[in-house]
Amino acid sequence: MTVADNVRDVAERISRAAARAGRRVEDIKLVAITKTVDIDMIREAIEAGVRAFGENYLQEARGKIEAIGHGVEWHMTGHLQRNKAKDAVTLFDMVQTVDSLALAQELDKRAGNAGKVIEGLIEVNIGEEDSKSGIRSGELLPFLNSIKEIDNLSVRGLMTLPPYFDDPEKVRPYFKMLRELRDMANNDGFPITELSMGMSHDFEVAVEEGATMVRIGTAIFGERR
Ligand SMILES: *Cc1c(COP(=O)(O)O)cnc(C)c1O
Repeated sequence: MTVADNVRDVAERISRAAARAGRRVEDIKLVAITKTVDIDMIREAIEAGVRAFGENYLQEARGKIEAIGHGVEWHMTGHLQRNKAKDAVTLFDMVQTVDSLALAQELDKRAGNAGKVIEGLIEVNIGEEDSKSGIRSGELLPFLNSIKEIDNLSVRGLMTLPPYFDDPEKVRPYFKMLRELRDMANNDGFPITELSMGMSHDFEVAVEEGATMVRIGTAIFGERR
């Protein structure tokens, strides 16, 4: 299987999951996760039609983004330290891992200085796992209220890394919780829309539960080194 074959297969599976849920496939963005993946393979994915990529480490991302450029979208999908906010703002179109008020404020300030608006997703630790970053569900509304006034970080929605289960059906309740959290925020007057959830082994369930972005690494590029 080539990268192009895998992209076609994943796109097909997204499309079937969307159909099962009565959703439009245009409302679901494939974000290919390229940590440890080399530039040639990223180019193959672009050839195959992928338009958005996620990287987890700023150092690793820099060379790839500089080589490939901004004809495609770049998303930061790993934990971001506050002292890297300045670089993140220049490299990425979206930071999917906004997990503290301090980071949100720093991104806003750095984007302002750079004369741009950076898009963001709030990372929610939906399974309340000690090993994971992200705010707790109960903190979402206060968080959204605290960042209401900021202009240069545009929060578009929520992202989560749910607990791992071999059986993707067991992840479904967590995807549903993230969707309900977004709906609750909408009811409180926060017009966030995006739900970044679902990885190689569970993205079809995520799409059925409302994912607007799926983050796929292994199913496109194979097992990581
Ligand atoms: C690595 C990673 C993925 C992709 O995982 P796969 O199982 O390889 O699809 C998605 N999201 C995040 C945050 C990751 O770190």
